[in-house]
Amino acid sequence: MAEPRVPGGRGATLDLPCGESVKTRTFDMGMREYDCDCGDSHAVVMDVHPPSRFVPEFLVDVLRETIDTTDDHGEFGTMHLMGVVLEEFPEDVVSEDVAEDPDLGYAMVWVTDFDSRRLHEVVVELIVELMEHAVSHAADDDAMSQFEADMLNFDVSTFVEQYRRERDFTGPHDRPA
Ligand SMILES: [Zn+2]
Repeated sequence: MAEPRVPGGRGATLDLPCGESVKTRTFDMGMREYDCDCGDSHAVVMDVHPPSRFVPEFLVDVLRETIDTTDDHGEFGTMHLMGVVLEEFPEDVVSEDVAEDPDLGYAMVWVTDFDSRRLHEVVVELIVELMEHAVSHAADDDAMSQFEADMLNFDVSTFVEQYRRERDFTGPHDRPA
């Protein structure tokens, strides 16, 4: 049973896809994964986490250059990434706007049914799709065939494993290795 919400957003409760309910106060900015009472680990993402948590900075730059954002969240970032994940996996992602609770240090939190390793793979797969879409719209056959050739040798699982090994995932201000 979810606890009643307190006016003003304080002590808001997040109903997870697995059925457990967790107070948003449980999540802090340094958290990447939540060990849930259901026995699983769920990935935790906040708006303050940089997209470089998932892919290298140069790729983030490419995304910012190629993807037009039509909303008011500014250049392509974690908000947009998690928006795409939510769109693809509506049953597996919950989010909460906690902007009214400034003590938390973040304004949005997403929790997924899958763990942070699986989320990482999902995000990278979606980024590859986004880039493929962007390249195909560039109407440059050479760019498209180059991209397809590059992607033939790209293994999401290997990339994710390597990237996670090279990165320090303990702090909120982690940078690419
Ligand atoms: Zn759970």
